[in-house]
Amino acid sequence: MSKIKVAELFYSIQGEGRYMGVPSVFLRTFGCNFKCQGFGMPRGESSNEANNVDPSKYTEYKSLPLVSTGCDSYASWDPRFKHLSPLLDTDEIADAIVHTLPHREWREEHLVITGGEPLLGWQRSYPDLLEHPKMKGLKEITFETNGTQELTPEFKHYLGEWTAETWFREVTFSVSAKLPCSGEKWEDAIRPEVVRAYRDVGYVYLKFVVATADDVRDAVLAVHEFKQAGPGGKRDARQG
Ligand code: SF4
Repeated sequence: MSKIKVAELFYSIQGEGRYMGVPSVFLRTFGCNFKCQGFGMPRGESSNEANNVDPSKYTEYKSLPLVSTGCDSYASWDPRFKHLSPLLDTDEIADAIVHTLPHREWREEHLVITGGEPLLGWQRSYPDLLEHPKMKGLKEITFETNGTQELTPEFKHYLGEWTAETWFREVTFSVSAKLPCSGEKWEDAIRPEVVRAYRDVGYVYLKFVVATADDVRDAVLAVHEFKQAGPGGKRDARQG
């Protein structure tokens, strides 16, 4: 049975993007390839706010203090907080997910798999989770990703099969591409060729964190690069 290190699991209303307003279960996986210490800081400076949080004072992820600079999900990847994210098998996760649903079964709810960066190594465990009998009624999934991780051929194939099984199943990639204000390097963070390949198995939209006119200019440049990756994928084919 596969396992996933789970930082948080909760039921809420999706507040953004394609499924805004839809009741959703959020599964936050542990681990990220970035740190994003530049958010909320003057250009070129890094936030130290999360480093000042003492992990030994906390026994639960949800009781950690919020930060106003740097990554707001710092405890979902910082190894100092890994003790707050248990490694659960897919049976335990499916049980916990269904337990959050108001009717203890899937109705109109959708599943958000977020992070950290959810498309790191956990791709190998998601098929086990999605094939669990308790996940059978699920119709729609969103991966909230930073858009830098390629889908493995196995997982891409699996998602293609999963959506093909019934016409109302949909996979969405909510791509929060990181601009220079995050502190990450452009060439590491803006990966049009990676994001373009998501379109072979799902719907894709981009989102950006912007605070200044420079950030908006960077976002426009990034969109231009994503557009240059060209059309493709089954969504574009369907839309003609
Ligand atoms: S990509 Fe997201 S989770 Fe990872 S460090 Fe940046 S803001 Fe945090």
